Amino acid sequence: MLPCQRKTRSQSRQGRSHQALVAKNTLTCPGCGEAKLPHCACKACGYVRPGLKVGAQAQA
Ligand SMILES: [Zn+2]
Repeated sequence: MLPCQRKTRSQSRQGRSHQALVAKNTLTCPGCGEAKLPHCACKACGYVRPGLKVGAQAQA
């Protein structure tokens, strides 16, 4: 199937104005200082929130 009508250059560009990539929001881990995602365990030390650590290095 082909599009019934060719889009103008303006229409194509207006549609692409919604395709920009957005940077992920990151927090600094208070345990080790690495960048981590909010509400997720830190990949380096397993820190989630005060009093909760998960993962292999949870004892540290
Ligand atoms: Zn960490």
